[in-house]
Amino acid sequence: MKMAGKGLLVVVSGPSGAGKGTICKNLLDINKDIVASVSATTRMPREGELNGKNYFFVSRDKFEQMIADDDFIEYAVVYDNYYGTPRRFVEENLENGKDVLLEIDIQGALQVKDRYREGVFVFILPPSMEELKNRIIKRGTESEREILKRFEAAYKEINFVSRYNYFIINDKVDEATEKLRSIIIAEKCRVDRFKMQFIGE
Ligand code: 5GP
Repeated sequence: MKMAGKGLLVVVSGPSGAGKGTICKNLLDINKDIVASVSATTRMPREGELNGKNYFFVSRDKFEQMIADDDFIEYAVVYDNYYGTPRRFVEENLENGKDVLLEIDIQGALQVKDRYREGVFVFILPPSMEELKNRIIKRGTESEREILKRFEAAYKEINFVSRYNYFIINDKVDEATEKLRSIIIAEKCRVDRFKMQFIGE
């Protein structure tokens, strides 16, 4: 039996501090068939972040030029900076049958949902709001003002879970990663994703 299918687009969102970055990183370590899209942003690099690996760090002018050129499948302003998903990487990989992972905010995910109905949308939740606050503080990469802003945003964002297909509570990171891996496996077994063709005898 021969099966023709495009790659799976997996979109992961969740409030800052829910741990989506770690889960996505762990998933990429264990699943070599999935590629992560590298976003463009106007935010300054954090210590240790590399251009082209964590993000493409670009100026506001450059980002706005990319918007005008229709270079993004989605973009949004998150905490006063632009973030966007480059179109070419995503479309080429999906076309070549590769699964593509996007770790993007809710505004971006909803734009993608409008355009790529066949995508899988996963929302990562923290075990509690208290734990979420601790995690944002513990990460220590943001100023006090930034921490408050992210925490307030997280409160509002959690309601958007209803727009996603799946949720994962990130209590234990290994279990949460396993759940994401299982969601992808199950989605790839869905009959409606394939044009099945019986060939041969
Ligand atoms: P951070 O500054 O902590 O790296 O990311 C801030 C937020 O922006 C996170 O919620 C992250 O998922 C989101 N983000 C990263 N890249 C993109 C993107 O390309 N598009 C959108 N809409 N959000 C993004």
